[in-house]
Amino acid sequence: MNLAELAREAGVIGAGGAGFPTHVKVSASADTVIANGAECEPLLHKDTELMIHHAAEVVAGLRASMKAVGAQRGVVGTKQKRTQVVEALTAAIDYYPSGDEFELVHAATGRLIPPLGIPLQVGAVVHNVESLLWLANAAEGRPVTHKWLTVAGAVARPRTFVAPLGTSFQTLLEFCGGATVPQPVALLGGAMMGKVCEDFGQPVTRTTGGLIVLDRDHALMRRKLLPQTAQMHIGKSACDQCSYCTELCPRYLLGYDIQPHKVMRSLGFVATGSDIWNRWASLCCGCGVCTLYACPEGLFPKEACDQARADLKAAGEAPWKGRGEELRAHPMHEHRRVPVSKLVQRLGLVEYDVPAPFTAEQPAAQRYEFPLKSHIGAPAVPTVRPGERVAAGQVLAEITEGQLGARVHASVDGIVREVAESIVVERA
Ligand code: SF4
Ligand code: SF4
Repeated sequence: MNLAELAREAGVIGAGGAGFPTHVKVSASADTVIANGAECEPLLHKDTELMIHHAAEVVAGLRASMKAVGAQRGVVGTKQKRTQVVEALTAAIDYYPSGDEFELVHAATGRLIPPLGIPLQVGAVVHNVESLLWLANAAEGRPVTHKWLTVAGAVARPRTFVAPLGTSFQTLLEFCGGATVPQPVALLGGAMMGKVCEDFGQPVTRTTGGLIVLDRDHALMRRKLLPQTAQMHIGKSACDQCSYCTELCPRYLLGYDIQPHKVMRSLGFVATGSDIWNRWASLCCGCGVCTLYACPEGLFPKEACDQARADLKAAGEAPWKGRGEELRAHPMHEHRRVPVSKLVQRLGLVEYDVPAPFTAEQPAAQRYEFPLKSHIGAPAVPTVRPGERVAAGQVLAEITEGQLGARVHASVDGIVREVAESIVVERA
């Protein structure tokens, strides 16, 4: 079998958050393969720990991927301050959002991905470092059954570890000594781009990057939990069009036609038609710099961009690619980067910016839940029935015939208890 077939068999997908099936990526042609270990979200360290402990496999996965796509060049994007990693791998960058594919491809190759495009359009393929570890395992016939995670924030023992897929967040919380605040809520995937998670019954999937636990009353959580109508009302009355949100927007600084301060006009200047302003949101990547770092008034330009894009979609308008001018990074691109240390201060996370060291111990539970859709593409089709005994590594659900998708494998030995939108397995 070639690498694409092995990746397909093993259920390898993008581990960085999006969950795009890797077998499609390694079927392409490109001159450069980039390993994304930049992990720029504050407090999350799982890629760093993974690179320290599995540098050889990451490099093996990178080499295999380079061979598969015909690339002559492999680049590892990580952070300067991670000295242990730098000893093992090549250093590059330490700012937010250095893990963004548009930033990473530009930093590694000097090329700018076309608006709304993908790295392949400029001859590059980007893999999260954990996907490369999975690729190396796939080449030896081992499917994806476990996930690297950091659990940080208001927990007794912040840790980085490997969890069997399907483990509940509640189990992770207990594994880290429990919450140290009275009303714990989590940010799933990071403080900047992560989603608020109030249900700790949810399971770990291949795209779970980590959990930041905070009290419901923490300033960052209060901002994240503010209802959208309130966000928009405040924006309408308080935005003075200072344009800091645009001047610090990483995509604007890369040269793209994105201007969140103009999107903010859609909240107030409805007489001129919000659509005129909405299109300035089309190229937003949702990094959150404008809302959580740039705006001196504490407003919500990122959320206004989210709404603007939803409005454009609802109106049936194709996303706007910009004015079509030649892409060129802003002259201040290098100088307006957001250092992660400053971001940690701005987010009120200094007290939680502590090591979350790797432990080889793993959380254990009785019940494991495997969603049929935790990847980009069609949901997987179950291949097991309730009552059936399964072994760790066994296929639970298969890719829908002829569709983009990914297989799902059991992470433990057990008995299938439910088959619906998720498959529930209880340890035997
Ligand atoms: S930074 Fe804040 S106040 Fe300034 S234009 Fe943007 S949203 Fe308005
Ligand atoms: S979230 Fe804000 S800063 Fe980030 S790309 Fe969108 S507009 Fe720019």
